[in-house]
Amino acid sequence: MQALTFGGIEQIVCQSVSEPQILEQGDVIVQITLSGICGSDLHVYHGREAGIDEGTVMGHEFVGTVVDTGKTVKKFYKGSRVLSPFTTSCGECFYCRIGLTCRCEKGDLFGWVQNGHGLHGAQAQYIRVPMADTTLVPLSNDISEEKGLLLGDIFSTGYFCAENAGVNNKGTYVIIGCGPVGLMTILAAKDLGAENLFALDHSNERLQMAKEFGAIPLNPLTTDARSIILNATNDRGADAIMEVVGSPDALRLAIDLLRPGGTISSVGVHTAKNFSFSPGEAYDKNLVYKIGRCPAHYYAGKLLKEQIIQRYPVEKIITHHFGLTDGARAYEVFDKKIDNCIKAVLHP
Ligand SMILES: [Zn+2]
Ligand SMILES: [Zn+2]
Repeated sequence: MQALTFGGIEQIVCQSVSEPQILEQGDVIVQITLSGICGSDLHVYHGREAGIDEGTVMGHEFVGTVVDTGKTVKKFYKGSRVLSPFTTSCGECFYCRIGLTCRCEKGDLFGWVQNGHGLHGAQAQYIRVPMADTTLVPLSNDISEEKGLLLGDIFSTGYFCAENAGVNNKGTYVIIGCGPVGLMTILAAKDLGAENLFALDHSNERLQMAKEFGAIPLNPLTTDARSIILNATNDRGADAIMEVVGSPDALRLAIDLLRPGGTISSVGVHTAKNFSFSPGEAYDKNLVYKIGRCPAHYYAGKLLKEQIIQRYPVEKIITHHFGLTDGARAYEVFDKKIDNCIKAVLHP
């Protein structure tokens, strides 16, 4: 089959690899119909997250159709339409039982093979999914592939971010970063009732979509975002900041814009060694700080069941479509935001 593999820093190779097979009886094989390129794939691409084996199939966002099942699989059959979170989960361990499926004791991240161990990814024609009954989520025919794809990672991540921020209809909130996850976070915050919601980004095109999604756009390059937010809050600062970038600068800005006793909710994948604020500053702000990977299995199920994904035009952020053979170009376009790319997807 065709797949995009990691060939070294900033090297994405479209190559022929062997098709995945059932290895354990709880596995299924999914034929992928749509696959995403995620901001966190760029950490691997640029070598900010190191350790992945060359030749690993990239990617962790996908929807598709089950084409083969192990003997103990009960919930899925050949032909089942499915979406997948970006990690596998067992459904039984301490973390799965409390809904923190992203920290499953037996879970693995798709698209990460290190020293021969781990799971190949989703930027390919087929993928092996272990613990399929408790990892995959059924996707009914009335939900589009695009919605299913975004539920498996970034819409769920945005919702998790907004919930961790404690968003309601009374506060003043700021979202730092209007990339794909930031835009999803805006919709999630609106769903939770946010009325005074500022969105910060350096790209006017992204801010335009932030505005369409219901946020007040602010470009720190051309406006004094800090004084606008202070003005809107009687000089206190925002009640919560949703930081989706994952950079030290974004975190620094978050604490500067926050009122004492407020919450920072971070879902950007941080790779820095130190915080960009001191314990003293955190103490003086009575800071509440929530950070970490979204339990996407839990959220995807919840957002489908409560018919939340159905209400929002999440798929508007998908600006670019590629085939696998154009995979290297797709990464470049997504990484450099060429042609105002927001979210790029692959059609294997
Ligand atoms: Zn992702
Ligand atoms: Zn588990």
